Amino acid sequence: MKKLIFVTLIIVVTNTVLLAQKHAHTHALGTSLQFPNIPGYQTLKCDFHQHTVFSDGDVWPTIRVQESLKDNLDAISLTEHIEYQPHIGDIPHKDRNRSYQIAVKEAKDHNLIIVKGSEITRAMPPGHSNAIFLDDPNKLLMLKDFKDAYREAIRQQAFVFWNHSYETPKNDNISFLYEANKQLIDSNYIHGIEIVNTHTYSTEALQIAYDKNLTLMGTSDVHGLIDWDYKNGPKGHRPITLVFSKDRTQEGIKTALFDHRTVVHFDNTLIGRDSFLIPLISECLVIKKAFYEPKSLVLSVELENISSCNFILQNLSPYSLIESSDIVEIEGKSTMTLHFRTKEKINQFDWIFNVINAINAPNKHPLVTKKIVI
Ligand code: ZN
Repeated sequence: MKKLIFVTLIIVVTNTVLLAQKHAHTHALGTSLQFPNIPGYQTLKCDFHQHTVFSDGDVWPTIRVQESLKDNLDAISLTEHIEYQPHIGDIPHKDRNRSYQIAVKEAKDHNLIIVKGSEITRAMPPGHSNAIFLDDPNKLLMLKDFKDAYREAIRQQAFVFWNHSYETPKNDNISFLYEANKQLIDSNYIHGIEIVNTHTYSTEALQIAYDKNLTLMGTSDVHGLIDWDYKNGPKGHRPITLVFSKDRTQEGIKTALFDHRTVVHFDNTLIGRDSFLIPLISECLVIKKAFYEPKSLVLSVELENISSCNFILQNLSPYSLIESSDIVEIEGKSTMTLHFRTKEKINQFDWIFNVINAINAPNKHPLVTKKIVI
């Protein structure tokens, strides 16, 4: 008898260890998105637009949590369509909180924040919007007038952003402020706008965000699997919103969103307001050391990119580069040495560069300066 208990115990222990290992292992795979903090704020990687079988997605909510852990995200929201449930015949559930509850349970032992949200789904205009930090999405159901649905979201103190605004009845892929959208924004029922959704970046949406003082959002709007939709090649990654928060809490993220503290990361590009975009790029690129080899007038500068984003930089300093034209590319999580022709020995200089794969306004790229001390 004793022996049997002992054997059983071993099997239980071994199984638990194996399960734990398997769990840890699956989360270690995938694209680990990495961005440094900026002065005064933590940089949180967020995807606030995702679907599961509880609306028109193809996966169970636990998969969304596991994908997000693989991608090293800090916060997500499963924003099921409130008014559209094509799987209702197979998965009948009246409670619009269900997918959130399953995700919270899955994320329990992990460092991932689950924000409760839903997608308010109407024909364009006004189109779709996500309301996140909701208390109870059920209360948005059965409200005929779209304004009542937005009003209820606001009553619950949600942060609301306009989704894929370029999906207009004209099919021209140009974001346009219809009267209904204007009214919602001017009534302060909408606080943000997706400038990126899935594989689309809308330069017109960026202009609307600036004109109407809205928060910039980028989301995957994933319905299938993240890896199938976005991991095509080593540079592949889902679109995310980088949120600059005082702390790693729901309240911190919510305050940051209302305060427009975001940068969108899409297709190895960073899009945002200068006040956050420039500090972010500056923290991503670290000058490790700068020196002259003995008897040389060529300045060596060791540059490390500590983010997972590749950068394409245009050198605007008076000193030309030796191994490249004015355009330099530095891969994510890598170090390279640049060689400048300084003509004479200098003690320091302000290296100014244009960041080609960053956008601070429609068709404009930010200038960043790094002080190089030799
Ligand atoms: Zn959606």
